[in-house]
Amino acid sequence: MLPIKFLTIHCAATPEGRAVTAEQISQWDRERFNQVSYHWVIELDGSMHRTLQDNEKGAHVAQNNTGNIGICYIGGVAAVGGKPKDTRTPAQKRSLRTLIRTYQERYPGIVVRGHRDWPNVNKACPSFDVAAWMKGGMSDGSD
Ligand SMILES: [Zn+2]
Repeated sequence: MLPIKFLTIHCAATPEGRAVTAEQISQWDRERFNQVSYHWVIELDGSMHRTLQDNEKGAHVAQNNTGNIGICYIGGVAAVGGKPKDTRTPAQKRSLRTLIRTYQERYPGIVVRGHRDWPNVNKACPSFDVAAWMKGGMSDGSD
């Protein structure tokens, strides 16, 4: 798994406002993929849940999981209709910012991107433009 070179942001593709827990996400992953996918899950209230250690390989970007930390926020699709939507709460944005900054300090030069920014990914995940949000200072939307 080491060295850490990438940080990939995901959404859980759960409906806006539905309070799915990190433990539920890990449980679904165990049932479907026989392993936990992400290193962190950020719940609606902004709480950050460590679901894999950094030296454990995740399963969140096909063929590209080595050295790749996965962070997933709960939400990512509209409550009605199920279309991709940036549903991050201000608390989730702040926690995402905290984790990104922590990893940038811990692993200088780490590449941070959204799932959809990887080659050959035909998904909307994480339902927002990671590069644009980072360029704008990773605002929580309140400023
Ligand atoms: Zn994803």
